[in-house]
Amino acid sequence: MAEPQPPAAGAPLTSADLFERACAVLPGGVNSPVRAFGSVGGTPYFVDRGRGAHVWDVEGNRYIDYVQSYGPGILGHAPEAIVRAVAAAAADGTSFGAPTEREVRLANEMCARVPGLEMLRLVSSGTEAAMSAVRLARGATGRDKIIKFAGCYHGHSDSLLAAGGSGVANQGLSGCDGVTPGAVADTVVAPYNVLPEVDEETAAVLVEPVAANMGLVAPAPGFLEGLRAACDRTGALLVFDEVITGFRLARGGATEFYGVRPDLWCFGKVIGGGLPVGAFGGSRALMSHLAPLGGVYQAGTLSGNPLATAAGLATLEALDATAYEQLEASAVRLAAGLEEAFAAAGVDAVVPRVGSLLGLFFGGDTPRNFDEANASVARGLYAPFFGAMLRRGVALAPGPYEAIFVSLAHRAADIDATIAAATQAAAEVAAALS
Ligand SMILES: *Cc1c(COP(=O)(O)O)cnc(C)c1O
Repeated sequence: MAEPQPPAAGAPLTSADLFERACAVLPGGVNSPVRAFGSVGGTPYFVDRGRGAHVWDVEGNRYIDYVQSYGPGILGHAPEAIVRAVAAAAADGTSFGAPTEREVRLANEMCARVPGLEMLRLVSSGTEAAMSAVRLARGATGRDKIIKFAGCYHGHSDSLLAAGGSGVANQGLSGCDGVTPGAVADTVVAPYNVLPEVDEETAAVLVEPVAANMGLVAPAPGFLEGLRAACDRTGALLVFDEVITGFRLARGGATEFYGVRPDLWCFGKVIGGGLPVGAFGGSRALMSHLAPLGGVYQAGTLSGNPLATAAGLATLEALDATAYEQLEASAVRLAAGLEEAFAAAGVDAVVPRVGSLLGLFFGGDTPRNFDEANASVARGLYAPFFGAMLRRGVALAPGPYEAIFVSLAHRAADIDATIAAATQAAAEVAAALS
């Protein structure tokens, strides 16, 4: 096979060319599987740049972007405050391996917003946050077993991949090669929105307080409260994976939104403003089990990175009370418009919403768990709708299990243009069905 060549000087750069070259040196042409468009078909667009609610691909096409990096882009792309903060931080050095002031400020800012959060450790991804929270829970309780829910995604560490939503589900994988039975022996998978059996051998119950990696599935009334009570009864630790919901649903994330406090939190996405960050935290007593105070080891060369903490601080500074009102108003407008578009086309679909988080399911019912989400996905309508939207300049996530992310940069005109595109796209899907 001939080596794919870079285009001749002066030749227009296309996504297809780039994808071919990418596939030669990156498995599947990407560095995270969903980006390869496997579940929607076609060639991924290669992004040239982004600004506000929009991204431009290398061919100059503009898209209204609802991917927003799968959550970090809550201010939209390249907001001036973040660009400035990161540039200023970079000029002073990008990593030291010694503590810096911004780490303290970011931790303070996070603890001030989330009720009950007293201490945290910064890491470099949500995966690390969830993996380390599990280790801490096991170390603090002296117990092995963890309970997670089918369709919830907690990153790609071995013991948490079981029945993971999002990327794993988009690949159509039921499990993952390379994860040994031993690695998941202490992981119990339960259906979302049903109270599991929690016993005295359970170290932790991990949950996405709003499941946002199997489409969007809200917690049923009483579900989070029931988990809290079961953990209190048995001494298991309740872990909220707020990597998506944190600082998005409300200033204090899902914890504030639902009024239920976990023992441990995982954060990521929004707190990095588009740079690689995660965090896990809890009470002072629990976090004291972590090295160097206690016996649970966890470390990172780039943890608390100067650029990432600068971007995170700039992001949180922009997220005041009016920001959440604006985000929610945009989401309400979009959800209503999308539902109207599907109704007008005679296509059964629901657009669940929690705060500013939106989902999209084809079919008449709103899924409450992974099985029901899978049944909706099996109708096969996401891919044609996605393609019809992309051709009209609207970028949804290239997989049916991802949420729709509105940002503060999405203006009423962007939302209305999206709804207009959806009205045509839904009609196109309906026409193909009949
Ligand atoms: C994205 C995500 C993760 C993993 O975060 P990465 O930064 O991709 O490692 C963990 N939990 C939830 C709920 C997420 O949405």
